[in-house]
Amino acid sequence: MERSTIVRVHEGLHARPATRFVKLAKGFESDVELVKDGKAVSAKSSVKLMLLAVKENQEVTVRANGADAIEAIEALIGYLENPRAGLDDDGEAVEAASAAAPEAASPAAAQADGTPKLQGVAASEGVAIGPAFAHFPPEIAGPGRRLQADEIEGERKRFRSAVAAVQARMDRTLAEDSLSAGDRGIVAALRDIAADDSLTGEVERLIQGGDDAVSAVIAAAATVAADFSAVDDHYLNARADDVHAVGRQICLVLLGQDEVSLETIPQGAILIADDIGAWDLARAPLKRIGGVVCGHGGATSHIAIIARSHGIPAVLGLGDKVNELRTARQVAIDGNAGHVIVDPDEAARADFARRVEAAAQERAGLKVFKGVTPTRADGTVIEVAANIGSLEEIEAAQEAGAMGVGLFRTELLFMRHMHLPSEDMQAETYSALAKAFAPHSVIVRTLDIGGDKPIAGIEFPDEENPFLGWRGIRMCLDRPDIFKRQLRALLRAAIQGNIKVMLPMVSEIAEVTRTRALVDECAAELQAEGVPHASFDLGVMIETPAAVLIAPALAKEVAFFSIGTNDLTQYIMAADRLNPTVAKLNDVTNPAVMSAIELTARAGVAAGIMVGMCGEAAGRPDLIPAFIKMGLTELSMSPASIQRAKKTIAAMAAER
Ligand code: PEP
Ligand code: MG
Repeated sequence: MERSTIVRVHEGLHARPATRFVKLAKGFESDVELVKDGKAVSAKSSVKLMLLAVKENQEVTVRANGADAIEAIEALIGYLENPRAGLDDDGEAVEAASAAAPEAASPAAAQADGTPKLQGVAASEGVAIGPAFAHFPPEIAGPGRRLQADEIEGERKRFRSAVAAVQARMDRTLAEDSLSAGDRGIVAALRDIAADDSLTGEVERLIQGGDDAVSAVIAAAATVAADFSAVDDHYLNARADDVHAVGRQICLVLLGQDEVSLETIPQGAILIADDIGAWDLARAPLKRIGGVVCGHGGATSHIAIIARSHGIPAVLGLGDKVNELRTARQVAIDGNAGHVIVDPDEAARADFARRVEAAAQERAGLKVFKGVTPTRADGTVIEVAANIGSLEEIEAAQEAGAMGVGLFRTELLFMRHMHLPSEDMQAETYSALAKAFAPHSVIVRTLDIGGDKPIAGIEFPDEENPFLGWRGIRMCLDRPDIFKRQLRALLRAAIQGNIKVMLPMVSEIAEVTRTRALVDECAAELQAEGVPHASFDLGVMIETPAAVLIAPALAKEVAFFSIGTNDLTQYIMAADRLNPTVAKLNDVTNPAVMSAIELTARAGVAAGIMVGMCGEAAGRPDLIPAFIKMGLTELSMSPASIQRAKKTIAAMAAER
């Protein structure tokens, strides 16, 4: 028997959700298959399931055959329809880190400033210089001997106990309290690969055919890794390296060898390797590692994830060029640009030493401001909040000391998926965000999208000037089907008590009143349906000249203003924010823009509503004093700017 459904599992059946699904399937006696686009795989193999690359909102069929087929289908369909299935702290941490991956620079040799540089993938930001620690463990090779028929059973047993030993070692690692949530998720994913039938089944098949266990593991790992490399999905491509790493661990146990240890790495050294097993790195003395350079890996590989979460600069994906570093004595790396300098000359050494020192001093000096609640001279608290675009960024914002969220850009939620996100999924996302920052406010901006950034599920017309076109609140009011779904989700999340909502691109009061009518309509519907919900403060972004000019009237209609200086600057100056030719005009410090900000602040203060700012300018230490003097009481910025902004406000108060 079979049943079809649309997958609602957040982000689809990638690593952790796939293995959870398999665990559930294995609890049933029946043979169970998952079918997508006519392709059926066993639902009891996580590798096969991952390779099916099932994404959120895709249609799949669960097919079961056996005594408990009905129960199996019931349970598995329930799993697939649950957006949070497979997510736990571990899984979320893994995804969190990978989603924060920086843009990958393409690997190529680079030469600039007269200093020879190797170009790799910029996988974890920061600069470092230090002694090279080359980690090139010897290649593992099987004896290449064909087994006699009477040796096969023994070899199979040897292989099984090697797998058990590797799994036991991983379980011990997982039991260590010192392992961070992110690293725990990574090791757990590796353990799942080690236990998967796709790998072990292939090895046993090769042993049955007469291969020795080591050769069989190497060959099977290569086959499974090649399958991962072939999928059109960066996250799954990066799992190929994990398969190799697991295969290597099994081989080492079979050969009775230990992995060459990273224990002896000196303080501040740059670790250089062709490849590093993710859990070797997770268990390495990370505090001593100054930087990582690898031949393998990319911005979403587990090595990159670990490096980023521990603040270690990393350049990966150098390919064969990493061999040029085998004999290096000193290495300088720039994890933002993806550059590696081998044995830097004196000038480069001095330059890097200065950059490393400056970054460290600034970081250390700013940390004390994390918990500071900055106030104005009259005691009014200035909220220094974070601009974020996904739940994955919560941790960084909290780490920085964010006093809530001043701008949650919901576009990513819509762009990440192949379909429009459901009301349930949105409600869960907004609630999770609110919970994470309570009791501080979380300001969610309704969908701000236009023809320049089309998304699946909305037909945008071809426009000559998309920035002056059908975007933001204009589009939303024309598409109540989309807008109401978001407003209903926000009303549901508002029961958390700290959700506020703001509208982008507002240029006339009617946009606010029409939105309010829709909010009331949604609230009435939820009431009739018996769905718990609550009201929220409604504010507007001030980012069009029209909004500035009607600010006194607008202020009577809304609970707060948030000045979007990125757009406000481009519209006041009539200078496209994406066009480098007019970049000079696109300047927030231009008196025209500053007076627009001041007019807005004055109107808001006069009406007694909160005036905040969420454009990039909010984080600028040179402008913050002026904004505070104008009456702004909330500044929202990228988490990296928060501590510096708090310091600036604290210094202002101290001056008086
Ligand atoms: C702005 O325009 O200043 C703003 C914060 O919005 P966005 O950058 O998302 O357009
Ligand atoms: Mg904007």
